[in-house]
Amino acid sequence: MSQSKKYKPLSTSHEVDNVCPHCGAKTDQTSGVDSEHGPEPGSPSICLYCAGICIFTDELKLRVPLEHELFEIYMLKGWPEYEAVINFIKSQCVK
Ligand SMILES: [Zn+2]
Repeated sequence: MSQSKKYKPLSTSHEVDNVCPHCGAKTDQTSGVDSEHGPEPGSPSICLYCAGICIFTDELKLRVPLEHELFEIYMLKGWPEYEAVINFIKSQCVK
């Protein structure tokens, strides 16, 4: 019992109370798309209710990204994964 293997969880959730600035949905958890640690100020986030892209503030609250921040998000290495998540959410909530 001296060896304890640590398995990487499939998805890591962190409890963060927030309100989506796009649709007003209350969220209490965040899961990393391309990281296993919690959100940091400036990290992008995608609302699971409206697929809106948000940015974490210094207080880890969500706000709408500025135009240049949105552009930087599109340039991220992990953007294809974000885009896939956004497309999936949009496909689930057809209005
Ligand atoms: Zn939303």
